[in-house]
Amino acid sequence: MTVFIDSHCHVNFPDLASDYPEIAKRMAKNSVQMALCVSVNLPDWDPMMQMVEREPTLWASVGVHPDYENEIEPSVEDLVSRSRHAKVVAIGETGLDYFRLTGDLQWQRERFRTHIRAAKLAKLPLIIHTRQASDDTIKILREEGAEEVGGVMHCFTESWEMAQQSMELGFYVSFSGIVTFKNARDLQETAAKVPMDRLLIETDSPYLAPVPFRGKRNDPSLVVHVAEKIAELKGLSVEEVAEQSTDNFFRLFNKIKH
Ligand SMILES: [Zn+2]
Ligand SMILES: [Zn+2]
Repeated sequence: MTVFIDSHCHVNFPDLASDYPEIAKRMAKNSVQMALCVSVNLPDWDPMMQMVEREPTLWASVGVHPDYENEIEPSVEDLVSRSRHAKVVAIGETGLDYFRLTGDLQWQRERFRTHIRAAKLAKLPLIIHTRQASDDTIKILREEGAEEVGGVMHCFTESWEMAQQSMELGFYVSFSGIVTFKNARDLQETAAKVPMDRLLIETDSPYLAPVPFRGKRNDPSLVVHVAEKIAELKGLSVEEVAEQSTDNFFRLFNKIKH
């Protein structure tokens, strides 16, 4: 049976959470078996986990997003202790974002290192958000020995060189609805080159709805449109993309027993 998995979403955000029963129906209709609900801060983590505990289709991570400047700073110990929850399968999202934020971003790099250290102690993979910060992202991953746990470059929009360096460190590369956008030619070329055994698909919902829903609210059921685009770019069937990306998901997030 062909199933799809949304490897990165934010269905705990109020707009989607209140509508989750309907979203779950659409997921079932589109054969989207599962979605990974990614943490962006600590105050919302408990309510997020209550939702994830309730929904058998949802799994979760723990972490503080690099774009959230004035947040409670996580400690290594706190991340590790929260990661022991049975449904937490990754650390993140973490990383560097020099596009959204400028100025002295030393705090962002420190926070990133904290997450990598926690992931190594927890023996869980990292979910990395990286935007216009390729060199520093790779440098810090190397310095901190992130290879030991691996992870995923989520919502990938950087260069092919960055994709290659990430894969050399054992990371997967995940594509969102951006890859379906008309003006995303470079990214489409990159996606065509990423080997099928290193590729994940995601929605990053509620943002970035894929074509033909661009500009509308996104949800995990729409990940099938990302899979369709990847299939088109690679000359594969959508079933092959579903199967491979699902296998990759379970290989990376191996705390999920299925
Ligand atoms: Zn992100
Ligand atoms: Zn995200």
